Amino acid sequence: MMKKTFQEDEKTLNKSITSSLNYPTQTAAFDNESSEVVNRFQGAMLGLAVGDCMGVPVEFKSPNTFEPVSDMIGGGSFDLKVGEWTDDTSTALCLAESLAEKGFNPVDQLERYLKWYREGYMSVTDVCFDIGNTTREALYRFEKSHEPYCGPKSERSAGNGSLMRLAPVPLFYISDPLLAIEKSGESSKTTHGHPLAVDACRYFGGLIAGALMGCSKAELLSPKFSPVPGYWDENQLKREIDEVASGSFKVKNPPEIAGRGYVVKCLEAALWAFYKSSSFKEGCLMAVNLGDDADTTGAVYGQIAGAYYGKNGIPENWISKLSKLDLIQFTMCNLLKKSMNIP
Ligand SMILES: [Mg+2]
Repeated sequence: MMKKTFQEDEKTLNKSITSSLNYPTQTAAFDNESSEVVNRFQGAMLGLAVGDCMGVPVEFKSPNTFEPVSDMIGGGSFDLKVGEWTDDTSTALCLAESLAEKGFNPVDQLERYLKWYREGYMSVTDVCFDIGNTTREALYRFEKSHEPYCGPKSERSAGNGSLMRLAPVPLFYISDPLLAIEKSGESSKTTHGHPLAVDACRYFGGLIAGALMGCSKAELLSPKFSPVPGYWDENQLKREIDEVASGSFKVKNPPEIAGRGYVVKCLEAALWAFYKSSSFKEGCLMAVNLGDDADTTGAVYGQIAGAYYGKNGIPENWISKLSKLDLIQFTMCNLLKKSMNIP
């Protein structure tokens, strides 16, 4: 039922989107073809979920200690079924739904993450079976304080838990690249207040915004890309993120490239896979086969690669295997309508 609704909506959306977009004139690369925008929009969300799923069997495994993943097979530490996804997709769905229903409201975002943690809301198995330490710490703090920005800032909290769920933010601000960057950083602070986590989200939010606008891969991966010209000159990135944004992933290879939970390494690994490959599938397999925090490296890769190649560039048999695909599509469609100002 929800699937039918989504498909019907998609046709209507394609017709009404062009007029509602309000890109600045300097983004001439954007082709203004409504169906292509919808394709990229869906690619970012579905790419996140697919990348998450693909990494499931090798999460926590050291590099080169396992048979490389070549298809969506499930399994892993949580013994998941084929197509079942993890906290990356659950928290992204919470964020997408919050944006669609409430606009950018950090307290509402945290309430949904808490509902996921406590009640299994937006979980593929209806329970929360995996949560990062930093996110848990932030949710404990939120339960007591109800403050909007509960993300710890200590050195050990510079994890990838806010980057892995980011796509809904630049998708929500699809017609305003500046807000896409700024709100990406703010969205991190609900659970991850460390400046490196915040800056990884600001930079990556800008990249996704650029991909949605139709920028080429060479443009996106050029030194310190921003969809808002000169933005990083005025709003500098922390050194470690600046190094990645300047192209560290172009000159490194494994084991220097590693699928770790540290946000800097995670961002670098996802961009390495995107840079070194020429299709969604090829890069996705490179990302998850780094092992370690494989599902999250996959989810981060999947956001930018999905936005760039579009839904049509993601293997159809991977999308169709996703568990609760109707829920993902329904949530995505509601975000799309809100983003494009379509009733
Ligand atoms: Mg995960």
